Amino acid sequence: MDYGKVIIFSAPSGAGKSTIINSVLRTFPDLAFSVSATCRAPRGAEEHGREYYFLTQEEFKQRVDRGEFVEWEEVYTGISYGTLKSELDRLWSMNKTIIFDIDVKGALNLKKLFGDDALALFIMPPSVEELGRRLRSRGTDSEETIRKRLGKAEQEIAFADEFDCIIVNDNLENTVKITEEIINSFLHR
Ligand code: 5GP
Repeated sequence: MDYGKVIIFSAPSGAGKSTIINSVLRTFPDLAFSVSATCRAPRGAEEHGREYYFLTQEEFKQRVDRGEFVEWEEVYTGISYGTLKSELDRLWSMNKTIIFDIDVKGALNLKKLFGDDALALFIMPPSVEELGRRLRSRGTDSEETIRKRLGKAEQEIAFADEFDCIIVNDNLENTVKITEEIINSFLHR
């Protein structure tokens, strides 16, 4: 595969990752978001080909067997997510630098694959307690789901040191500014 640069974001759920990514995409027109494949069902207004490529479990498995993924992980029990090689080719053929929003294991696998052509960023919540407050104030999840996410967050934070940069999101405006500075120097080095 003939490839360009990639920027990989990973963070515990509730750390503010999506807001940061959307802001970065507006600032840098040469960046494009990698649409992952998943076998979970679409949520709300999500559309096939925009948020995700929604596949059945069977289709997902067949594509794994055919070697069509650069990486894939069973992020939640029975629910896999992965990056299709065809998605990277699609974005690179438009001369884009690719932005990924993927789980910690997938992120570190891509970092291994792309080396210095990859910038792996870990968005860190100020603390697990603050993450809990943020998830509860969203009001969208049950207490049980929140506890599960906090448990997963602790596991994910344990891998933070393996990323190129850890960015603590204690103030969104500031975090976006720092993230954009890091991306700018990565793109121009
Ligand atoms: P959600 O179901 O909330 O959209 O995403 C769940 C998790 O799957 C998030 O942590 C997200 O980063 C991760 N994820 C999304 N796409 C991919 C992918 O292509 N590969 C991997 N390894 N993880 C992904």
